[in-house]
Amino acid sequence: MGKITGFMEFQRQEESYLPPATRLKNYAEFVIPLTNEQAKIQGARCMDCGIPFCNNGCPVNNIIPDWNDLVYRGNYREALDTLHSTNNFPEFTGRICPAPCESACTLGISEDPVGIKSIEHKIIDEGWEHGWVVPQPPSKQTGKKVAVVGSGPAGLAAAQQLARAGHAVTVFEKADRVGGLLRYGIPDFKMEKSHIDRRVKQMEAEGVTFRTSVLIGKDFPANVNNWAKETIFPEDLQKDFDAVVLAGGSESPRDLPVPGRELKGVHFAMDFLPQQNKVNAGDKVKDQIKATGKHVVVIGGGDTGSDCVGTSNRHGAASVTQFELMPMPPEHENKPLVWPYWPTKLRTSSSHEEGCERDWAVATKRLEGKGGKVEKLIACRVEWKDGKMAEVPNSEFEMKADLVFLAMGFVSPVATILDAFAVDKDARGNAKASTDGDGCYKTSAAKVFAAGDMRRGQSLVVWAIREGRQCARAVDEFLMGSSELPR
Ligand SMILES: Cc1cc2nc3c(=O)[nH]c(=O)nc-3n(C[C@H](O)[C@H](O)[C@H](O)COP(=O)(O)OP(=O)(O)OC[C@H]3O[C@@H](n4cnc5c(N)ncnc54)[C@H](O)[C@@H]3O)c2cc1C
Ligand code: SF4
Repeated sequence: MGKITGFMEFQRQEESYLPPATRLKNYAEFVIPLTNEQAKIQGARCMDCGIPFCNNGCPVNNIIPDWNDLVYRGNYREALDTLHSTNNFPEFTGRICPAPCESACTLGISEDPVGIKSIEHKIIDEGWEHGWVVPQPPSKQTGKKVAVVGSGPAGLAAAQQLARAGHAVTVFEKADRVGGLLRYGIPDFKMEKSHIDRRVKQMEAEGVTFRTSVLIGKDFPANVNNWAKETIFPEDLQKDFDAVVLAGGSESPRDLPVPGRELKGVHFAMDFLPQQNKVNAGDKVKDQIKATGKHVVVIGGGDTGSDCVGTSNRHGAASVTQFELMPMPPEHENKPLVWPYWPTKLRTSSSHEEGCERDWAVATKRLEGKGGKVEKLIACRVEWKDGKMAEVPNSEFEMKADLVFLAMGFVSPVATILDAFAVDKDARGNAKASTDGDGCYKTSAAKVFAAGDMRRGQSLVVWAIREGRQCARAVDEFLMGSSELPR
């Protein structure tokens, strides 16, 4: 512990943002990281409590008190090693993790919690800046071949761990670039894509082969993005590789079956967001969905909806409104009741701050338009009793809507992919595999494992990294009889 009285002396300092007027002009990241002096003070706020709840609150179990202390002492080199010992990609989580660790911080019971995420961000940025993040190729090869299907954070974490254990790893990705939702989905202003490119270079130097625009499977549905130019059947993959990791995400979107759904101008969020990622990467996108000058309604109050808000405002939308079916959560959590768990409370994202009307307990009844194009949305207010939703009588209202984005989450992974591998599904349609005991992460299909959103359902980047790491260990054990990879 760096400074015994630090938590009594210093206030929490958040990373600051460029002002909305500046950041709305482009798609660049706008978070201003802590300076070394600020990070030292924030590190000093850590109490190094006997039981570090933050470590347990973090899905990858980052060893947070240790790096807080190391940052307080200015020892970034060792802090980086400690951080990397549990997290392959802290530059992703340091930018876009919602930081459940901070909800679990003991200091948070009575004061503002330690600014863990901003310290993580600082450590990894220092690491890249000083050239400390270098390839770690294995000292020997095992002669075993592993295929990873999907290049999101789960697939990347699994691939990096397995390559470092000496296996020959090939990552197959149906998109034209590596990264999963980190690449196509999460806007560049939350995480610039150069962070993925540097990791891909590092992983290639460690022996990972990436094959993009390749779909593994059969009968892919039309409502999910698929830019593959080549298809490989699962049985061929199983023949050619000693083990297969399915890390294809949870891509089937939840639809809104209301009259008018078929009108032009009503899109899934994942039709809209990846297009802007592509344009930012320098690609030409034919008939890009543009919010410029339009009245935009986003249906769904989560992260994806918030990303539609931020992107629409960067396009120059005339207005942006976001509806959520659930009631408005309380502004502050009841700490003694919920700590150290992730609380339900009102969350206002940087995109909301840039301009957006938000409304809760609203259900869309129908969409109307002329000439096949959406023009308005008709909604009503709802109330919730005993988990059941009921329409508030006489509460119907309408609003102008030139563009409607459906951002109500994802139902499950693409079923045809799991079926093509003959993988059993759980009750929610995810790949069925347990996370502990013998045979963890192993599916019902021979030598096929599953990790990330494809196994647990839609979740978070940090959970995908955890599952990718743990799955890699399970695969290594399966191939070699034992494993030295961390759990
Ligand atoms: C818009 C949006 C914003 C989000 N924002 C955040 C955030 O701020 N913070 C956060 O922590 N989480 C966020 N999430 C959630 C997070 O992105 C996911 O939980 C995480 O990316 C899941 O990782 P994954 O590796 O399991 O799957 P994914 O990232 O979904 O990657 C799966 C990859 O597999 C590929 N694939 C699928 N099937 C096949 C196949 N048959 N053959 C070849 N390739 C295939 C897909 O093309 C995709 O690239 C967000 C999600 C969305 C949609
Ligand atoms: S990965 Fe997320 S939960 Fe873990 S320390 Fe970083 S911000 Fe916290």
